[in-house]
Amino acid sequence: MHWAMTKKTPAYGARAAKGPLEPIVIERRAPGPHDVEIEILYCGICHSDLHKVNNDWENTHFPIVPGHEIIGRVISLGGKSSSFREGDLVGVGCIVDSCRTCPECRAGNEMFCKKGVTFSFDSLERDGKTWTYGGYSTDMVVDERYVVRVPQVLNPARAAPLLCAGITTYSPLRQFACKRGDQVAVVGLGGLGHMAIKFAASMGAVVTVLSTSRDKEKDAARLGAKNFVVTKESGALDKLAGTFNLIVDTVSAPHDLNQELTLLGSLGTVVLVGLPPGSTKLYPGVLIHGNKRLAGSNIGGIPETQEMLDYCGKHGVVADIEIIKANQINDAYARMQRNDVRYRFVIDMASLRADSK
Ligand code: NAP
Ligand code: ZN
Ligand code: ZN
Repeated sequence: MHWAMTKKTPAYGARAAKGPLEPIVIERRAPGPHDVEIEILYCGICHSDLHKVNNDWENTHFPIVPGHEIIGRVISLGGKSSSFREGDLVGVGCIVDSCRTCPECRAGNEMFCKKGVTFSFDSLERDGKTWTYGGYSTDMVVDERYVVRVPQVLNPARAAPLLCAGITTYSPLRQFACKRGDQVAVVGLGGLGHMAIKFAASMGAVVTVLSTSRDKEKDAARLGAKNFVVTKESGALDKLAGTFNLIVDTVSAPHDLNQELTLLGSLGTVVLVGLPPGSTKLYPGVLIHGNKRLAGSNIGGIPETQEMLDYCGKHGVVADIEIIKANQINDAYARMQRNDVRYRFVIDMASLRADSK
């Protein structure tokens, strides 16, 4: 299928590796029968956007319009689209299409689609040739199967980061059965880290933050952590050996995993969600002694994303954000690069609409 591109849409994108991000006009397809047309209200800035713009993973196709933490209102519907109504508050995360028929898609694990998932940006549509553009834009057209409902009780701007940072931390806590009284460590207090603290605390875990930034200690307590340890301070980690049932590692830069693994109790798990470029050295002994596990977790499927949003509606979980205008994206990237995020930048897309008039 080749989409007829019909609607010129203001966006922010990068034309080459390391940016800058600048105004760019993209085309969105006219809504097909099963599509939902969304006026984007807010879009969060994830470190994956920054990795992609910097070409850290060496797979970026330029120009790129990042953005996969999208909250908006439905403004029109395709003729056969029945899940939503005009005016509904909806979310779009990392996934906008997949084959829909393979066992992974049927199980709601669309991110593992056997035929390759279509991500919301820097990815190919099902036609194999049309590149997707993400949420740093005023409008978007998405098949209703990949659109989620946002509970009315949630503040829309503060809900945007749930679409990636939220699901990426909720999912591993569920997979590894986080429960009341568990000792859970969160490594790295940024966008994903702060959501991991909130979710783990809401599930009753005793949360410890392992951070390189002493000045985030007060925030960690406010977010729900019981303990805060600065990993750079000598001897700080030695005292924690054998402590944790689960460690959620959200760090965006290369770092040593061997000492981190010694902090697990027997049968404990380190789950990696942070995706730094490059490789890391692992001593098998640190896993073998105590039957420890090293795992990874990749976002979450559409049904689990809806489950997570409903959980957030019920438990009042939203992100702590700094709202910015579209023309401040480059400043936000610079701050994210130096760990100065408190704790997610969210772009107010009304600013892009205003600039584009
Ligand atoms: P972020 O807001 O920039 O937070 C990353 C945090 O990592 C920083 O705030 C910092 O916390 C810590 N950190 C940074 N450099 C470090 C270093 N050299 N050593 C130790 N700690 C360091 O980023 P994010 O948006 O949360 O994303 C985090 C990572 O997850 C990125 O690599 C991103 O691509 C990845 N990601 C993966 C998935 C997935 O599906 N698995 C989904 C989304 C994002 P402290 O100041 O507390 O040390
Ligand atoms: Zn993300
Ligand atoms: Zn599939």
